[in-house]
Amino acid sequence: MKKIGVLTSGGDAPGMNAAIRAVVRTAISKGMQVFGINRGYNGLINGDVYEMNTRSVSSIIQRGGTLLYTARCPEFRTEEGLQKAKKTCEELGLEGIVVIGGDGSFRGAADLSERGILCVGLPGTIDNDIACTEYTIGYDTAMNTVVEMVDKLRDTCHSHDRCSVVEVMGRNAGHIALNTGVACGATFVLVPELPYDLDEVAKKMLETKKTGKQNFIVIVAEGIGHSELIAKTLEAKTGIEARATILGHVQRGGSPTLRDRVVASEMGYYAVELLENDIGNRVVGMQQGKIVDFDIQEALSMKKPFDEKLYQISNTISI
Ligand code: ATP
Repeated sequence: MKKIGVLTSGGDAPGMNAAIRAVVRTAISKGMQVFGINRGYNGLINGDVYEMNTRSVSSIIQRGGTLLYTARCPEFRTEEGLQKAKKTCEELGLEGIVVIGGDGSFRGAADLSERGILCVGLPGTIDNDIACTEYTIGYDTAMNTVVEMVDKLRDTCHSHDRCSVVEVMGRNAGHIALNTGVACGATFVLVPELPYDLDEVAKKMLETKKTGKQNFIVIVAEGIGHSELIAKTLEAKTGIEARATILGHVQRGGSPTLRDRVVASEMGYYAVELLENDIGNRVVGMQQGKIVDFDIQEALSMKKPFDEKLYQISNTISI
């Protein structure tokens, strides 16, 4: 195909700009025209679309957020919305679209592909909760942000002999919580994938206190929530002062790490290669470090394993 579009949809993630840049420049290098679509599927429905050139994506590889803005678009779930989007594509001659987002965005991409506009999804979310890929764009940056914040909390916890209960993002997945918990030396990590018992957490805090431990970090995944209540409960059970901190949207911003920039660049390039060969209705992912692609429905039906071994390691070395 010769004319394609690119959009970002759902929650933003650091590295989305690097992916946009790769899509735009790969397409242009292959002699294709490429259009930027603003605010996710809304831009397709409203015709908020503009042609991009190599310089449209200058100096964005190091920036968080997304140059194309992002949004949710309930209208795109309706047949009327899909037909409006299709009409915009037909008027501009867009034959394919690269959709950077999460599972919801891929469902929309599948719907549009069924209606003749071939879409390729790129996994862009800090949560790493997309089953067909072991890595999503934004994951590494978000985790590095968490580590930086928790290291700061640990300083003040240490001064006050406190416990810090830190709630991190991840939606219904505990991947951010587990990995940052290991990286920050958390005493305990609570994730939605596995059962937990606050009596056990309190017992471990008291046992390690006996060996001289003075500060405690407990990482709580967003899918568990209730971090204020967890802090109060732990304080009541241990007598150790505990404070909750919800890190929130700070985790979604910031300059992307090397890993996010490189993976986003590879995936963006790969997506354009698929469209160049008129292949759509696919999601790009990473398996064993290699960039691969799947049928969208197949990708959506997959289940992601949770790294129970790492959870066990975390518990073993936090004594
Ligand atoms: P994130 O996980 O980062 O929030 P996401 O892509 O899963 O990203 P959603 O809000 O679920 O975020 O989806 C983004 C957009 O994709 C929706 O606003 C809607 O336009 C479209 N979309 C979601 N689900 C569907 C669906 N079942 N059919 C068609 N379009 C959908």
